[in-house]
Amino acid sequence: MRIVLVGPPGAGKGTQAVRLAEKLRIPHISTGDLFRANISRQTELGKLAKSYMDAGNLVPDEVTIGMAKDRMEQPDAANGFLLDGFPRNVAQAEALDRLLQEENIRLDAVLDLEAPEDEVVKRIAGRRICRNDSSHVFHVTYNASREEGVCDVCGGELYQRDDDSEDTVRKRLEVYHSQTEPIIDYYKAQGLVVTISSMGPVDEVTQRALGALKREDAAR
Ligand code: AMP
Repeated sequence: MRIVLVGPPGAGKGTQAVRLAEKLRIPHISTGDLFRANISRQTELGKLAKSYMDAGNLVPDEVTIGMAKDRMEQPDAANGFLLDGFPRNVAQAEALDRLLQEENIRLDAVLDLEAPEDEVVKRIAGRRICRNDSSHVFHVTYNASREEGVCDVCGGELYQRDDDSEDTVRKRLEVYHSQTEPIIDYYKAQGLVVTISSMGPVDEVTQRALGALKREDAAR
């Protein structure tokens, strides 16, 4: 399957993406994770991306689209992928469409994770991620690690993302509403959008998502 995950920052995209990708046996492609990996390796791309990320802005399309394309062209993504955080504006969605058309393939679904604004702010404020792998995500109250500050998966140090500070989160939400939300209408016009609530326990949301994707697949 080829799936795009959308939703505001803090809706649980990263957490659900890891679980869904495992269940569906497709690679999880997160542009945020790719940028963070570049930042920790201190590459030129990482330095550029960090300046935008820390301000809560989108990294420019020229850089982002090329990076996403390179990742999607890796052999493990030949039969499907779960995109998390890409596309994030209509220009990126159009670029993705062109890319898929060149390969004669289509998206199967766009999964839209809904969460109220006060909830996403709470989720982001308590979010902690692992220095070794930013797909290892915890929350100080909703999904606490067994030992405070230590990743359950690999023992790495847990930290708060620089862009999870309150001011940056407000900016990211603003950017989400103005730039990312319009892609939902873009994909609705293609009949691809499946909306679910991301409220409730993590496992329940995963089951809800799998159920919705299965119904969508069966309806095709
Ligand atoms: P995320 O981990 O998905 O919350 O992304 C963290 C930050 O990385 C975002 O706030 C953006 O600054 C940047 N970023 C991630 N994906 C994209 C994208 N598709 N386009 C532009 N910037 C992105």
